Amino acid sequence: MSTNKDVAKLLYDYDYLLKRLYERLPAKGTKASRFELPKLIVERVGNKTIIRNFKQITDVMRRDPRIVMRYLLRELGASGNYDEENGMLTINVKVSTATLNNLLQRFVKTYVICPTCGAPDTRLEKRGKTWVLVCEACGAEQPVPPL
Ligand SMILES: [Zn+2]
Repeated sequence: MSTNKDVAKLLYDYDYLLKRLYERLPAKGTKASRFELPKLIVERVGNKTIIRNFKQITDVMRRDPRIVMRYLLRELGASGNYDEENGMLTINVKVSTATLNNLLQRFVKTYVICPTCGAPDTRLEKRGKTWVLVCEACGAEQPVPPL
């Protein structure tokens, strides 16, 4: 038999557990993993790799294609160029689609997803020499490695 007091305690515990659960979600990256990028359309021509829908990908991230390009090229140690007219990125090396996906996911994890609340509604701000990830959902600010 439960008394009102027991019910109240139960509800309190439930709220408490729920709150704790939510607090722990971003750390586990649950929300981050829900952020899905469009499927890459990749073409290889000779020793070059072309991402045909690069602009579409960076639009979903809400990031400047040139910034994402800089990141990719640096990580790959390759040169390349962005074709603004067609929204395509050409990388002057052969890269697998899996590698590109991994790098883009890493970019999203570091430069798009808010580490505090897990929302993707963020923007990058350059303050002097420091890059800061500003969350529009919770207001958190997080310095990130320079791009
Ligand atoms: Zn946030």
